[in-house]
Amino acid sequence: EHQRYLDRTRKSWELLNRTRDLIPTGHAGGMWYQMPYPVLLNKGKGSRVWDVDGNEYLDLRIGDWVLIHGHANERINEAVSRQLPLGSQYGSPEWDLSYRMASLLVERMPSVERVRFMVSGTETNLLALRLARAHTGRTKLAKATGSYHGIADVLVVGSSTISFIKDRIPPGVTPGVAQDVLEFPFNDPDGAEAVIEASASELAAVIVEPIMGAAGMVPATREFLQRLREVTARHGIVLIFDEVVTFPIAYGGAQAHHDVNPDLTSMSKAIGGGLPLAALGGTTELMDLLDPDKNGGRAPVTAASTFGGNQAALAAGIACLEMLTPEVHARVQSLGERARLGIDAIGVKYGLPLHATGFGHILAMHWAPEPVVDYRTRMQDDSEKITNLGVALMNEGFYHFSFGSFLLSTTHTEADIDSLLGGLEQALHNLG
Ligand code: PMP
Repeated sequence: EHQRYLDRTRKSWELLNRTRDLIPTGHAGGMWYQMPYPVLLNKGKGSRVWDVDGNEYLDLRIGDWVLIHGHANERINEAVSRQLPLGSQYGSPEWDLSYRMASLLVERMPSVERVRFMVSGTETNLLALRLARAHTGRTKLAKATGSYHGIADVLVVGSSTISFIKDRIPPGVTPGVAQDVLEFPFNDPDGAEAVIEASASELAAVIVEPIMGAAGMVPATREFLQRLREVTARHGIVLIFDEVVTFPIAYGGAQAHHDVNPDLTSMSKAIGGGLPLAALGGTTELMDLLDPDKNGGRAPVTAASTFGGNQAALAAGIACLEMLTPEVHARVQSLGERARLGIDAIGVKYGLPLHATGFGHILAMHWAPEPVVDYRTRMQDDSEKITNLGVALMNEGFYHFSFGSFLLSTTHTEADIDSLLGGLEQALHNLG
């Protein structure tokens, strides 16, 4: 299958090598999520993408969690085209698009009363941590081992996964920063509570992904999230939900789905409808620390982001959210369920240790001896098997992360899911 991949994607390989002379990895995101090397895409429409060799794929990566309405969505494109002639960036406290976008977020996200716009999930997580530190007067952050929350120093500690961060403290991060980060086991309510209790007086914040995304699409249980809420509330620790990935899993994100309200919520990726946009949402008490007028003329916490609330991104984001109704979420959830059940059934049919995880439009297949429910069981994945299967699936026309993860959009259909499942059987067959 590797030879077939090379034969199909020669132009990608040549262009990639030329690009690498200027850009260290040849990928704008800096990550090679495709083995043995990424194909280069030059067109996307709906649920389809095309590479420079002219191959067409069903897209199961949706721009890395971003394109919940698929590629080149017409309503989003129109919204951006209407805004651009009026200006893309004002440098003024813009009131119309920001207000509308903030209203859409507040309406859906149960815990969100106030919103501040930024550009990336890294930024909103950093601002959340700063607010938590200012509010509590404490310094430390606790996170689940293996969770990815962004690329800033304090966020990458303890993020090592099978994907692209290899060390607990990656090179370039100082020991001082690393000391501020504590880790607890994902989906282990007692284990997490013990870690948090032991350092409660030093902890400013606990951050959690309601589905571990980069670490393999592993959903948190409701019990785990509830326990984090209880223990943080008991000790006055700020609870941050990183909903950068999970925002579109349900109307109101994971917090509505699980009925657990964090103090602060990071949102990005899908909320911008394909353009760069992030939002930190939270309670009035915490978010008003950003407002000078509510604090005698001087805001206790500073935040700025030049492109935060860019007009084109807000226009795209509003169009995107307006199309994400509860009915649309329900349809995508059932597509995801169809895919997960189908993957499990293929495992049973061929007597293979193949299982699916995920929720909503997010899913992954694991080749693992036990069900994958946390970081430990995730690390038992046979990554070679998954990678080989991934290469064979690419050859069959399914574009996806090579760590076995798939993402769906509102443009995917039941027929697409069935063709993915057929492709998976074919890929298994091709590998012998
Ligand atoms: N949080 C989560 C859960 C993520 O998956 C990511 C990005 N993959 C981030 C934060 C960081 O977002 P950004 O790359 O926009 O900084």
